[in-house]
Amino acid sequence: MERLPFITGNWKMNKTVEESLDLVRKLKATLSNIVGVEVAVAPPFTALYAIARELKGSFIRLAAQNLFYEEKGAFTGEVSPLMIKEIGCQYVIIGHSERRQFFGETDETVNRRIKTALAHGLKPIFCMGETLKERDEGKTFSVIERQAEGGLRGIGKEEVKNIVMAYEPVWAIGTGKTATPEQAEEVHQFIRERLERLYSREIAESIRIQYGGSVTPENIKGLIRQENIDGALVGGASLKSETFSRIVRFKEM
Ligand code: PEP
Repeated sequence: MERLPFITGNWKMNKTVEESLDLVRKLKATLSNIVGVEVAVAPPFTALYAIARELKGSFIRLAAQNLFYEEKGAFTGEVSPLMIKEIGCQYVIIGHSERRQFFGETDETVNRRIKTALAHGLKPIFCMGETLKERDEGKTFSVIERQAEGGLRGIGKEEVKNIVMAYEPVWAIGTGKTATPEQAEEVHQFIRERLERLYSREIAESIRIQYGGSVTPENIKGLIRQENIDGALVGGASLKSETFSRIVRFKEM
């Protein structure tokens, strides 16, 4: 099945509002004639509103980097799905390894966030990945299975179609060490098989699975050529318009 490649830039905790606007204006210009690929950016929360206005009418989609699973109330420091939706985000990154590592995110809270996002018409970019220790101990597939099944618990066939999966080996994030296309493909194929078991072949074939972990203009093509790699979640290389645009234009390289 043909799946539209999807490239998302995760800016993490980088860029002031002015810097964010500058980057997104450059992206609008350099990517203006792009076809056959879906593109999203995930700026920090403080810049979302300004970027949403700047992107009005643009093909570039907007993603939040996280959300909380309650709509409102005494949750100091959290951001509600209603707020994210109101701003105009279509996507939200959920379960990023940095949130699991530094902010106590678990499979259960990831699951709650995914359900909340879906209930509010937001499409989750659901991240999963093993640490180096887990890989070295031969636990890659059991970790991915636990994260995938834990995150998708209670999510039905119709809802899961709105999820984008992202495989991000923790040892490859921000380290300059990319998984080889074969290493990544092996896990992507495993995720697709899990989806087939949980849902159906048709659904598994329709869901996009992004790869993340030190993606660059130099390695994107080898990765995306793999049958089960449908795009990329890009951190460091999404902070400059030149490198992000080259990744998005992988077909022209
Ligand atoms: C990420 O954090 O989603 C990521 C993949 O980062 P980087 O591209 O910098 O490794």
